[in-house]
Amino acid sequence: MTKPREQDLRSERPTMTTNEGLPVGDNQNSRTAGRFGPITFDDFLLFEKTAHFNRERIPERVVHAKGSGAFGTFTVTNPEIAQKYCKAKLFETVGKQTEMVARFSTVGGEKGSADAERDPRGFALKFYTEEGNWDMVGNNTPVFFIRDPLKFSDFIHTQKRMPASGLKDPQMMWDFWSMAPESLHQVMILFSDRGIPATYRHMNGYSSHTFSVINHEGERFWIKIHCKTQQGIKNLRADEAQEVMGKDPDHARRDLNEAIEAGKFPKWKMFWQIMPEEEALGYRIHPFDLSKVWPHSDYPLTEVGEFELNRNPENFFAEIEQVAFSPVNIVPGIGYSPDKMLQGRLFSYPDAHRYRLGTNYQQIPVNKPKCPMHSYNKDGQMRVDGNSGGCPVYEPNTFAGPIARPEHTDPALKIDAEFVARFDDWHSGFEVDDYQQPGDLYRLMNEDQKEQLVENLTSSMESIPERIKKAVVPMWAKCDQDLGERLSKSLGVPIDEAAMMV
Ligand code: NDP
Repeated sequence: MTKPREQDLRSERPTMTTNEGLPVGDNQNSRTAGRFGPITFDDFLLFEKTAHFNRERIPERVVHAKGSGAFGTFTVTNPEIAQKYCKAKLFETVGKQTEMVARFSTVGGEKGSADAERDPRGFALKFYTEEGNWDMVGNNTPVFFIRDPLKFSDFIHTQKRMPASGLKDPQMMWDFWSMAPESLHQVMILFSDRGIPATYRHMNGYSSHTFSVINHEGERFWIKIHCKTQQGIKNLRADEAQEVMGKDPDHARRDLNEAIEAGKFPKWKMFWQIMPEEEALGYRIHPFDLSKVWPHSDYPLTEVGEFELNRNPENFFAEIEQVAFSPVNIVPGIGYSPDKMLQGRLFSYPDAHRYRLGTNYQQIPVNKPKCPMHSYNKDGQMRVDGNSGGCPVYEPNTFAGPIARPEHTDPALKIDAEFVARFDDWHSGFEVDDYQQPGDLYRLMNEDQKEQLVENLTSSMESIPERIKKAVVPMWAKCDQDLGERLSKSLGVPIDEAAMMV
């Protein structure tokens, strides 16, 4: 809202109009047939207002519905990125700046849910580069619950509401996790001291997926992106979060908005872990498995740049509710990887935006690239950009329409191609150990962090059926015996591998 003015100078205020621009004479009284008569059918002002109001809501995102965002600037700090690894123009010189927008979110809750829920946080960045939009649509965790997109809708249903009662119930998620050991890594982070970030400013962001970058010589490298908060990591303990949710369900949105308003611009440094293409097949860990990290000792962080968020949205609906991030959005020099979850998201994100916002969602100003666009896609609902005027509507053509240029084709990716309809041997040649990395994380926690983890897991698992508890406790013991023993004690169930479902 614009700030209230000292004096209400009516003569300076614009005249109210209908959506079509017709000046409005009276916005307080509907038209009626006489003093006591019914409303007349020609009260188009009333009907326009009512009809528009009825259509104000668009479908909320099925995941990441509750979010907050701001605009900012990315600055390159490392010349090596352009020299050695990536030809994308946004990295071409140190000090080069690119405008961006960020949206942070919780995942499972509805649009009005509380910001302090125990839930991963979405960490989505859109960079408006001169070569098109580059989106990094990540989370505040380096891994995810599953590694195959075929499981995604099932997993998300466990985070939502019970079909009969409409209530949330931890039984669903623990039932699912008891049969999905690849989830343990993310579940441990979720129930650790970092499971509820204090604010959006005090958390890291990760691409989680492996992406690729291509240098000027056409060489490919695999990367994982890490964005480290410069405000320091701060978290809420479970009891603090309860209090915050009771006092202010929007606390993280408010914090981000007020910090920027006060000129305390939050900053993150961007780093990449970089793996030469040929090392992927020989690496002991599947490099495209989203439930695994690359240990820093194998692939250390290389600084890339930094970004700050320095401008609040002027209109939340227009710029944050309608912002449409998609991992499909890459620029020349950045590419995808064979990560199956990433491949699944390449379909699901644009599909979700077409459903929520319409076919031409890229024309909404916050989504619109800041570089010229020349495509043969045309028409569709809400086409508002002139629809390429009189340009040819097919390709190839001899009428000076846009053409594809071979220099924008990525180098070919070598694969050991043996087509199998549903490849249940995706991990052949790599370690398949879903217990080692969560165990590594547990072993680097201090005593207070271990206690918080056990308390948080216990309070989530207390109410679930005994047989699911019995199945899950030995899974935690496989990650780390000490963790298993603590949970066995707090939940009162034995560590019995025979009770495991996997
Ligand atoms: P390192 O000791 O080099 O790194 C440990 C990492 O764990 C740091 O990035 C640290 O983040 C992060 N961390 C610490 N506490 C938590 C927590 N409660 N939840 C999430 N992350 C946390 O070890 P490795 O690289 O060998 O990895 C060991 C384990 O650390 C992994 O199995 C994984 O669970 C976790 N981890 C690893 C990451 C990676 O990319 N290698 C990234 C994040 C977590 P910070 O430096 O910001 O404190």
